[in-house]
Amino acid sequence: MNANSSPFWFRIPCPPSGRDRSRTLHSGSGVGGSTAGSIDSTDDEDCLDHTTIFRDFRRVMRESLSADLPSGERIAALCARAEQQVRFSHLLLTQAPKSEYSVLAPDPSEIAEGAVHDAEAALKLAPTCAAAQRLRAEALELVRRYEEAAHVAPPHPAPAREQGTLCPSSAASSVSLAASSLASAAAAVADMRGGDSTPLPQDLLSDLECPLCLKLLYRPVTTPCGHSFCQACLPRCLDHTSRCPTCRTPMNATHAPAISITLQSLLERCFAKELAERAREEQEERVALESRMPLFVMSYLLPGEHLSLNIFEPRYRLMVRRCMQGSRRFAMTSRRHPGRASDELCSAACEVEITECVAQPDGRFGIHVVGRRRLRLQGVQDIDGLLYTTPSDLRDGATSEPPSPELRARVAEVERRAQAWIDRLQELVESKPGLRALLDAASDRPEPGDHEALSFWAAGLVVRLSDNPARYRREIMEMESTLERLTLASSLLFAAQKKIMGGCCIS
Ligand SMILES: [Zn+2]
Ligand SMILES: [Zn+2]
Repeated sequence: MNANSSPFWFRIPCPPSGRDRSRTLHSGSGVGGSTAGSIDSTDDEDCLDHTTIFRDFRRVMRESLSADLPSGERIAALCARAEQQVRFSHLLLTQAPKSEYSVLAPDPSEIAEGAVHDAEAALKLAPTCAAAQRLRAEALELVRRYEEAAHVAPPHPAPAREQGTLCPSSAASSVSLAASSLASAAAAVADMRGGDSTPLPQDLLSDLECPLCLKLLYRPVTTPCGHSFCQACLPRCLDHTSRCPTCRTPMNATHAPAISITLQSLLERCFAKELAERAREEQEERVALESRMPLFVMSYLLPGEHLSLNIFEPRYRLMVRRCMQGSRRFAMTSRRHPGRASDELCSAACEVEITECVAQPDGRFGIHVVGRRRLRLQGVQDIDGLLYTTPSDLRDGATSEPPSPELRARVAEVERRAQAWIDRLQELVESKPGLRALLDAASDRPEPGDHEALSFWAAGLVVRLSDNPARYRREIMEMESTLERLTLASSLLFAAQKKIMGGCCIS
């Protein structure tokens, strides 16, 4: 690891062999050309053992700071004191106490608070002092004030930049500082826990809660403004407003942030048990949803029919996201009396497949769907504001085998009329491109002999041209006799032929 590219408070432990040591990698801590305490010595000299750290700490703390000291010397002395407090506090947090100082039972955060105080006193005298800034950041981190530590200026501040602030344009720098802080927090917490016997740092656990679901972050994502949420929670909030749920910064709803690697590894290292529990919960929810199918309550679509939809309602945006992560299928149904929201749902639904999906910048989706099969609506349940059904195939009542002469005659009539309709459309489509959509509906011709599928397909060719498409679709979907449906399809084809001959309504 290159010391110059390391975060300036990043610690690496010495190898476990030999004496138990720790060292600090950092760069640039000079104070007005001189060095501050022993921190600028070589790495080898930084590898001090417990006794040396404790003695240095005790020695520096015994020396009183005279008010008459010249400014430069006073800054150096404050930095030296902060440095020793940081080292000793870190030692207490990460390693078992040695007999020499265990009787004192010192409190690591109290010592770190002392270091914060001294570093801030030095910064009052020299606001751009890099060593004091670094020490303040390390001390803040030790008292677990990570957010403040992340906002300390980098070790080589530009002269124009004020102490304690970040360049406003450097959002990335803010994120990387926070990430470094979290990475070292992970190391510290992992060391502190040292196995399951040590109690959890509850304050850190609450920092890692998602502000939306109030559970431990699961697959955490961080917004450009720096706030973190579960990957699944953030888009659900953005369905209602395109602003950060915490600070209201405007956000692009389609730009889903990637999982934060640093946060994820922090969670895995420090809260493995809690994270496994969260993963189990999520898995159970996913399995429960996979056995059901979301319902889009608008109007029916017939099996084989194509439709383009603009999805803007928050609950249906959630539906499209869930579909696209799974089977790409949902069910379309209608209310018995559309317009009355409290009215009951129809008894059937059409399972549709999303064949195209385009996410819009404002979070809407443009989708294209094709009807696949008819379902019976059963076990309808509201989950997350979305209705779900347990899908079960709905088939017509059995027809006699071989088919009755009446059915065979009707099948032949429907096939003849459907073919005539398609031929007519093909003649007209060159001069009237608007007819292309009607011709597309004819593309999924059913297998010969599947009379039920034929009845849906033939009706789907022309139902949109009828006087009341919604009513006819509902009737067609709820019929349980193939013969009845073929009869209706045949009359719809006849009416459409008449319409197209007259040239009305179709452009
Ligand atoms: Zn959440
Ligand atoms: Zn925010």
